[in-house]
Amino acid sequence: MECHYCKSTMVRTKTAYAINKNGYHLVIDDVPAWICQQCGEPYFEGEQVDIIQEIVKSVDSKIVKVQLARP
Ligand SMILES: [Zn+2]
Repeated sequence: MECHYCKSTMVRTKTAYAINKNGYHLVIDDVPAWICQQCGEPYFEGEQVDIIQEIVKSVDSKIVKVQLARP
């Protein structure tokens, strides 16, 4: 596999996937991914991305309930 940005070789490994949303930030450790040896650009595969989207949807629907509570 070749890096989209610098055309260097990518290696299969695990890395953290960070999600920065308005209202919360989520970091999932140890997500399988291709990482560029040159520039460090990660490439996540569709299956992992789909699951992460499900997690985000689930958090999105519940986070409001937490944040609506009076300080
Ligand atoms: Zn690269």
